[in-house]
Amino acid sequence: LYVEVPLAAGGVVTLPVPQSHYLAQVMRRQPGDVVRLFNGADGEWAARLVTVGRKAVVAEMVAQSAAQEVVQDLWLCSAPLKRGRIDWVAEKACELGVARFVPVLTRRTIVDKLNLDRLRAHMVEAAEQCGRTALPDVSEPVALAALLKDWPAERVLIFADETGGAPMAAAFAGVRAPAGILIGPEGGFTVEEREAIRAVPGALAVSLGPRILRADTAAAVAVGVWQAVAGD
Ligand code: SAM
Repeated sequence: LYVEVPLAAGGVVTLPVPQSHYLAQVMRRQPGDVVRLFNGADGEWAARLVTVGRKAVVAEMVAQSAAQEVVQDLWLCSAPLKRGRIDWVAEKACELGVARFVPVLTRRTIVDKLNLDRLRAHMVEAAEQCGRTALPDVSEPVALAALLKDWPAERVLIFADETGGAPMAAAFAGVRAPAGILIGPEGGFTVEEREAIRAVPGALAVSLGPRILRADTAAAVAVGVWQAVAGD
């Protein structure tokens, strides 16, 4: 379970309301039960419940049960999508080990408001579910032109291009992190945008297969195949 306080031997923690509710009301945990906590920085800790209330569960640290996870430096750069779809992408990006999620504003982006706190909350839930202790960073939305202009030279830009590119799995076999996967909006990238992306030094245009995937499907597939082929 995720908490926002430092975790250390001998520490006593009051869990946030959602996690307290989950333990008390859903899991029916009792004082003396041991749960696992993480905060994104101090690894995973076994903690013994001291008091169990509906809105506040208090736990004391027992011992560190896992060192802080180090995730591969992979960014997922995706245009904001409609609410349910971008929430799903955030969840899958966390499960699949993405280090940073970068919302990218493109010419055909149709979503103008993105609730970053909601995306982070989905990632916390996903991290709790999959046992991840390093939460992905979530960047402020950035315009595609600015993203490309400041793209770090050492980071491979992987461009999911539905108009054609190298077969994804074979292409991923030849690259290593740091890398960033770029996925377009529901309406795709414009011709000019595609040219600008391909002009980034070292950019690697990849195909995700013969069919046009939904943007959310494309994001999950690209990151999943990356993890299978080039992940650690
Ligand atoms: N209209 C659909 C939707 O509502 O999501 C399809 C959107 S598709 C144009 C969005 C993005 O997914 C593309 O810009 C591209 O980055 C990626 N994509 C989809 N299918 C792909 C494929 N076969 N190969 C490479 N990238 C693909």
